[in-house]
Amino acid sequence: MARLILDGVEKSFHGAPVVKGLNLTIEPGEFVALLGPSGCGKSTILRMLAGFENVSGGQIIHGDDCLSSSTRHVPTEERNFGMVFQSYALWPHMTVKENVGYPLKVQKTPTAERNKRINDALDIVQLKEYADRLPAQLSGGQRQRVALARSLVTEPDVVLFDEPLANLDRHLRATMEETFRAFHKRTGATMVYVTHDQSEAMSLADKIAVLNKGQLVQWGTPQELYARPRNTWLANFIGRGS
Ligand code: ADP
Ligand code: MG
Repeated sequence: MARLILDGVEKSFHGAPVVKGLNLTIEPGEFVALLGPSGCGKSTILRMLAGFENVSGGQIIHGDDCLSSSTRHVPTEERNFGMVFQSYALWPHMTVKENVGYPLKVQKTPTAERNKRINDALDIVQLKEYADRLPAQLSGGQRQRVALARSLVTEPDVVLFDEPLANLDRHLRATMEETFRAFHKRTGATMVYVTHDQSEAMSLADKIAVLNKGQLVQWGTPQELYARPRNTWLANFIGRGS
C-alpha cells in the first residue's frame, strides 16, 4: 500500500487549462471524494490518475514510482488501478462470473486462483447467487455491483470511481453507498471517488477535495468542510443540498 501524490498537476486541452496546479496527498487506504460542479475537471483528474491522459505539468507519484510527468507516462495496464465508471460496460454475452473474471483472464491468472478471486469479489458485492446470469438478467444496481466486483478482482491498491451512482435510481443509491463502504472496509484499498453530489461525498468519504474551475478550493474531512467552509462559494455549494 502506497501513498498517492498529485504534485502541481496541470492539464490543458488545446491551450485551455482545465486542471490548474493541483496538489493532493492521499494516504494509503483513504476514501477520498473529488467533489465539484459539472465541468470543473473531476473526470480529467481521474483519467490522469488512470493513465488515460498524460499530464500537461506536474507529476503523479504512487509510493516510490512516478506514474506521470512531462517525461514519463506509465501505461494504464501497468498501474493496476481498479476503475468503476458511470457506464459500467459489461460484456453482454458473458455471465457475471465471466465478466468479473475477465481482467484475470487477460493477466493469465491460473484457473484455481481465478475462481477463488471471482468468488471473493462476488461475495463482497453480495452477488454470489447471480454468478451464472447474464447482465441483461440483472437490475441496474446489480450490474453496477458486477462492475465493482470486476474492479477489485485484480486486488488493486487504488480504485477510481467516476460518478458510479449517476445512472441509478435514487432509491438504489443508499444501498450502493452501503456496498461501497463494505467494499472499502473489506479491501482496505485507497478509493478516489468523483461526484458532483455533496451529500454523497459527505456520507462516504474520509476526506473531500472540493474543486471549482480546475482548482482545489478546500481539502479536509466532511466535518471540517461543513463547519469551516473556506469561502462563500463553498458554503453555498455544501449547503445547497442535492
Ligand atoms: P467534470 O468531470 O468535473 O464534469 P471534465 O473533467 O469532464 O469535468 O471536464 C473539464 C473540462 O475539460 C470541460 O470544460 C471539458 O469540456 C473539458 N475537456 C474534458 N476532456 C476534454 C478533451 N478530451 N478535449 C477537450 N476538452 C476536454
Ligand atoms: Mg465527469
